[in-house]
Amino acid sequence: MTQQKTKSPSTPHLPSQGNRDFRNRTKRDRNPPDAQRTISRGAPQLQVGSASAQPCLILKAGREKFLLRRHPWIFSGAIERVDGAPVSGDTLPVRDAAGNFLAWAAYNPDSQITARVWSWRENEVIDAEFFRNKISNALAARSGFNLARDNNGMRLIHAESDGLPGLIIDQYGDVLVLQIGSAGAERWRDIIADILQELCKPICIYERSDSDSRALEGLELRNSVLRGTLPDNVEVIENGLHFNVDVAAGQKTGFYLDQRDNRALTETLARDKEVLNCFCYTGGFSLYALRGGAKSVLSIDASADALRIAAENLTRNSLDASRAEWQEADVFQALRTLRDQGRKFDLIILDPPKFAPTAAFAEKAARGYKDINLLGFKLLRPGGLLCTYSCSGGISEDLFQKIIAGAALDAGVDAQIVHHLHASADHPVLLSFPEGAYLKGLVLRVAG
Ligand code: SAH
Repeated sequence: MTQQKTKSPSTPHLPSQGNRDFRNRTKRDRNPPDAQRTISRGAPQLQVGSASAQPCLILKAGREKFLLRRHPWIFSGAIERVDGAPVSGDTLPVRDAAGNFLAWAAYNPDSQITARVWSWRENEVIDAEFFRNKISNALAARSGFNLARDNNGMRLIHAESDGLPGLIIDQYGDVLVLQIGSAGAERWRDIIADILQELCKPICIYERSDSDSRALEGLELRNSVLRGTLPDNVEVIENGLHFNVDVAAGQKTGFYLDQRDNRALTETLARDKEVLNCFCYTGGFSLYALRGGAKSVLSIDASADALRIAAENLTRNSLDASRAEWQEADVFQALRTLRDQGRKFDLIILDPPKFAPTAAFAEKAARGYKDINLLGFKLLRPGGLLCTYSCSGGISEDLFQKIIAGAALDAGVDAQIVHHLHASADHPVLLSFPEGAYLKGLVLRVAG
């Protein structure tokens, strides 16, 4: 197992890893050599408190507001000082300027999000039992979704919104894919894998901790089997449709489970329509549209690998290949070509990748969304439907709607919103963590 400057997660009782151990520390534990101190390698410049004090994060006066509202992130700018000698991944108490307890949080000096909250309860112990409870609760919540019959795929853990910051677990049949995006979850990785093994009994737990955001957290990239053996063929069944999932090389954890309900809606809208599916990936929306009786579906994506799997998925589901056309192209360019060719469609799906990971990218992202949506509106026949999505955490629902309104105006069309859409129920959004609502969609009908 590769770790950075962390202690083994299999020894949770080492000092500074949890409050129970922290309370039981010996004098020697409280005075580690200065050389062991990990203070910001990256951007955040944290004020270092007394090295001999008990490890603790002290917030600047007035900066406890977000925590009191139960937002689970502590940004570097809110921290007055770091006491003790904590290292990345340690669990620390967070206190306000007056010394009042606020939360237990996982520390990461290399991230702008310098700590992520595990618990708001002072007497909580962050240990294997804590993770077993959190994971059991998340599984129990999902057992009520009644997805069992025609589905074998589900997001089991949705990070902050399930109380486990930085941890994502997606299930594809008897394969679990784990993605870790925080130093805190990284510390507990093997314990989490043990618990998943015990509770879910998968044949494989595959780790896809290779997203760009890991670099921002100072974590190395990992893409490999964590437990068991990866079968040659991983398949997800979604509302009775079968999709091949490339867990090792596909995007994210291999499949976009968050669009399950929205794809099902598309099926109900597609009968006898000429459909254009942009950013089609492995053909999700395309297959639903075909099953829903679309006259034709043109699907565009820049990834040849995704398109190869998409074509396989079509065959796998015995859908009529003569109604499907796949095009490998840059959507921004392809939409212009279709416009110049005078092509028209009845139903257009735009599900681009994340243009704005954070609000800092919002302006540039807004231009991208406006561009493709404006072109989308122009390619629709009167009375046509535009199903448009944004998975950018940095673009709010309100801003997205404004961008689409601007695109319609510039395209010279009047349009109505007929559906407001979000991620499926296995991607819940913690009320105090609006960032969890990253996926938003609109179905718009242009005037006839
Ligand atoms: N709608 C899909 C998920 C889309 S993910 C589903 O339901 O599964 C976004 C897709 O956009 C990826 O497949 C990626 O390859 C593709 N992509 C990213 N930039 C692109 C571009 N400029 N032109 C075409 N495709 C692009």
